[in-house]
Amino acid sequence: MRFGSNASGPRRSDFPRRFLVLCAFGLFGAAAAVGMVSQNADATVVPDIRHIVQTLQLPEPVAVPSVQAGPDDGLYVREERVQRGDSVASMLNRLEVSDPALQRFLVQEPAARSIYQLYPGRAIQVATDAEGELRWLRYVHTPGAQSDGEVVQQLLEVLRTPEGGFEAAEHEFPAERRINVGMGTIRSSLFGATDAAGVPYNVTQQMIDILASDVDFFRDLRPGDQFRVVYETFTTNGENARSGRVLALEFVNNGKSYEAVWYDPDEAGKSGGYFALDGTSRRRAFLRVPLEFTRISSGFGLRRHPVLNTMRGHKGVDYAAPPGTPIRSTADGTVEFIGSQRGYGNTVIVKHHGEYTTLYAHMRGFASNLRKGSRVAQGDVIGYVGSTGMATGPHLHYEFRIAGRQIDPQSSDIPIAQSLDGKELDRFKQHVASYRGQLDMLANLQKAQDGTLDTDGAVALADTGAAR
Ligand SMILES: [Zn+2]
Repeated sequence: MRFGSNASGPRRSDFPRRFLVLCAFGLFGAAAAVGMVSQNADATVVPDIRHIVQTLQLPEPVAVPSVQAGPDDGLYVREERVQRGDSVASMLNRLEVSDPALQRFLVQEPAARSIYQLYPGRAIQVATDAEGELRWLRYVHTPGAQSDGEVVQQLLEVLRTPEGGFEAAEHEFPAERRINVGMGTIRSSLFGATDAAGVPYNVTQQMIDILASDVDFFRDLRPGDQFRVVYETFTTNGENARSGRVLALEFVNNGKSYEAVWYDPDEAGKSGGYFALDGTSRRRAFLRVPLEFTRISSGFGLRRHPVLNTMRGHKGVDYAAPPGTPIRSTADGTVEFIGSQRGYGNTVIVKHHGEYTTLYAHMRGFASNLRKGSRVAQGDVIGYVGSTGMATGPHLHYEFRIAGRQIDPQSSDIPIAQSLDGKELDRFKQHVASYRGQLDMLANLQKAQDGTLDTDGAVALADTGAAR
């Protein structure tokens, strides 16, 4: 079977899928299914929804848009999937290609070496002519690679030359982008619900991160909470290569609705991010600086260490300030570490929403009653400037970390709250309208589904028209 099932989890039962298909018929009066929406690169139009039927068919040749290859007419295309323990020889054997010259070529040709990286589940295609001679071999060894922020597929192609020899080349071209939708109601766990809806694990993780400042997915979830999500996936030859970004999301927690949409502002200096549907950034702001300081005594980056006198990367920013100056947490969070660390002296690490943490070092002392696990609000005093640890004078060493990696706290990468206005807001509203439509459509489907789940399926179908 050519179309493998989504690798994100066990296949759910047929019932809800068939049910949703029929609901969609009711709503649109056209062939429709939930779960897959036709490709729509800029998502400014509400895409039509199509029913994808799984059929067994002969392999469609992997297209190589970057190459002008001859026509495939009259060629016999065969495809075999790599299995655990396969070798190039066993693959060629199953593909019924027996050509010692080809095998020699593959062994000797440096440009063909990716064929020796066989990944179980991936496919090799060959095309032979009427005489049974190999005309080409294609192997998409990397279906979803990140390259310059783009998702690309990488493929090895071996061609028979007119002279009867072979040549090999690697090709890279954009993966096909698809827009998918998913929805569900939480019965026991978020992952249980997203899995049942066929939403990839990685997309669920993003949902948690995007709403992390509002919903604590480990404590606040209630049975009956709902999610609706629009996300992208990248496919190679009709198969999911990797899941991409969440484009729009609605989560109803305990009766309250939270929404987010991905938007890339046109304006220079503003970076893409998640916004509420009214155009305010969903990112929690961080304070630019954690204290009133007299000067920045050392910036982020390479410098001569003042005590060790060696060149090394400085992973934070040093703010010189009189001893005892209050130091404030730059955002809401939880104290992850409080105590002494080698070199850093008295140190506090605060864990914020998402993957953000901040570190404050060389403190003279800590705020009273502050301990590991304490919750702090943005601007709360957590300690006082000192020179404990490896420090030449009183200063605060401040680090900003994303997923444990330090970035320059003065750089534009740190989430400082932004909102959109003027032309940018108009552009945003247009952008949001299509997602709003999709989320509403899902909500309607969900209402129809949930309202009738515990009754007979046949009744549910009759009711779908009324659910609008
Ligand atoms: Zn420092």
